[in-house]
Formats: sequence, structure tokens, C-alpha cells
Amino acid sequence: MSKIHDARIKLRGELEAPPALRRFGSGWISGVLGLVLGLAGFLLVLSLRAPSLFSVPELRSLHENPWFRFGLHAVLITSFVLSALSLALRPGKVLGTCGVSLAILAAILGGSQSTAVVAGKAPMFLGLDFFVLRILFTGFLFIPLERIFARRAEQHVFRQEWREDLFYFLVSSLLVQILTFLTFIPAKTMLALAPLTETRAWVGSLPFVVQFIAIMFLTDLVQYWLHRAFHRIPWLWRFHAVHHSARSMDWMAGARMHFLEILALRSTTVIPMFVLGFSPPAINTYIFVVYLYSTFVHANLGWRLPVVERLLVTPRFHHWHHGIEKEAIDVNFAIHFPLLDRLFGTYYLPKDKWPEGYGVEGHPVPLGYLEQLKYPFRRPK
Ligand SMILES: [Zn+2]
Ligand SMILES: [Zn+2]
Repeated sequence: MSKIHDARIKLRGELEAPPALRRFGSGWISGVLGLVLGLAGFLLVLSLRAPSLFSVPELRSLHENPWFRFGLHAVLITSFVLSALSLALRPGKVLGTCGVSLAILAAILGGSQSTAVVAGKAPMFLGLDFFVLRILFTGFLFIPLERIFARRAEQHVFRQEWREDLFYFLVSSLLVQILTFLTFIPAKTMLALAPLTETRAWVGSLPFVVQFIAIMFLTDLVQYWLHRAFHRIPWLWRFHAVHHSARSMDWMAGARMHFLEILALRSTTVIPMFVLGFSPPAINTYIFVVYLYSTFVHANLGWRLPVVERLLVTPRFHHWHHGIEKEAIDVNFAIHFPLLDRLFGTYYLPKDKWPEGYGVEGHPVPLGYLEQLKYPFRRPK
């Protein structure tokens, strides 16, 4: 066990290496990419081997797609080549060894030709492939942007508390089935009590763009007041403090949210979307856009967007919501339209300034996913 523990400490040390040991040519970039792709490939092979356990039904149709198979093949080969390059360049071998081992293990398990060995349907599944594709897509989109347009250029990809935030990604992806099921209970109950047949038919017939903007506005309005309640009601704040406990803002920080808050937020915002009868394309587009948008507003992006930020929530606007300064407390609750904060008196956006730091004063929230899960139920000190 102690060998595994030592390897883990070494691996973490390598991932979090100081700038001098990460420079181009040091084998760090190839090592990290090789490791990430090796792990991604290995987990995707597991989802191909046991789709009923480790694959989201919506993604299972991908499994027969030749481009998906080709992509997986390319991921494994690239992982192997980059890890071997890192082994050649870098004195520390842990990144390269782990990357090569994962790529080989994935190949032994069947690689891109893997077929299902666990057949049949299981009542419960974990969204393992959803997690991998979500991290690859979001990471490869935002990490280069954050490197080029960083608000804090010195902030490392593997910054403090990155493991916590990655774990939030993992949990919300693996438990996507149960989260979705629970999220829809209130909306389905309301719809059963009040079918609103005519209203639903009218809303569903509106042009796509109108429906999309209406969804954005209605969900933001509901979210604004729920978010404000999470700040103002002390026992609710203990849940929301987990989201605010992030001391670094980047593409991963927004994922940090207490499981029960995710449920409360999603099930409440889904009510206007679902009950009023918006069309599935408008709802699905909104869900995709809101995911990218919420990642964007937390990202370490120093863009100045003087015209846009008057109309739409930008990273600077939401970073002020997370600011550690006194003036940043209980401001900027909107997630789409700053107009709501202007209307309800909670708008704060000083010209060209960014917060000095992020988090909750005194940093009362403990580290670690499980500790944070228990935090709201602990007796306040
Ligand atoms: Zn908040
Ligand atoms: Zn936030």
C-alpha cells in the first residue's frame, strides 16, 4: 500500500511541478497530455466493455460510430507516443510510466475494437463516458483560452484544490442518472396538477430564438431569487458556502457545488422550462449553452468586454460575486442578465477592477469532497 501511496504523492508532485520544471522541452506537457489521454482512453474502453454499467444511454449510439472508434484509437496512440516522449525527456519517470501503462492496459482490454462483455440492461448506470467526454471537451476548449487570455497568468492548471473540483466533475457526471431523475420530480408533479395544455401548445409553437431567450430569462429570474435565498438564509448559506469556498477561479471552479444545492438549483430552474411547454430543441440547446456559459463565467479569463458586460454576465461580473472583499458580499446573483441585479439593487461592477482574491472570509469550509458534503450539517463553530 505504501508503494501506491508513494507513487500517488510523486504523481501529484509532478502534476503540480513549479514553473521551472514545466517549461517547454522538460517533458512535462507531453507527460501530462499522455497521462490524461491514457486515462481517458482506458475509461472509455471500460465503458465500451460494460456499457450497461458505465455508459449513458444517449452516448451508447456513439459506440458504433466509426469516427468514435477512430478517435479512441488516435487517443490511445497519441497517449503512448507522448508518454514515451516524456520518458525520454524528463528525469522523473512517473508521468510517462503511468501514461504508457494506461495506454497499454486499454489496448490489452480491447482498445478501440472493444465490444461489450457485460451484456443486458442494468437498472442503474454510472456516466463514466459522460465524465471523460465532458472533461476532454471542456478542458481542451478552456485550458488553451486560459493560457492565452489569463486573468491570473501565474495560476497553474493544477492550482490549489484542483483535485476537489475535478472530483465534483466526476460525481456529477457519474450520478447523472439519479440527478436527472430527481431534478424532474417537482416539475413533473406540477405538470400533473396543472396540465396547462393551451399555454404549452402556444409556447411550444413560438420561434426557436424566442423560446431560447425566454428560457434564459425565466430560468435566470428563478435562479436569481433562489441564489439570493442561498446567500441570505443562514442554513442555506452553509450549503452554498461550498461553492464560494473555491479560492481559485477557472474552468473547474464552477463544478464545486454541494450535491443538494445542485438538486435544488436544477429542479427549480427546470420548472419554468418544463411546465410551460418549451420545445425539446430549445430546452436541449439551453442546457448545453448554460453548461458552457457557467464554465465561462468562472474561467480564469481576463477579457475586457465593456459593451457585452452591460447586457450579459461575464467572467468579471461573476468573479466579483466570488470576491473575498467586503464590497463583493451578496452582489451579482444573476447568471445571465446583469439587468436583474440592477433591478433588485444587488449590482456591483467597479470600472476595470477585479477582486483581489476569492473564497469565504476566514475560509471556514474544509477541504475534500466528503468533508464539504458534510459541512452544512455540522454544528456552526
Ligand atoms: Zn453565490
Ligand atoms: Zn459561481
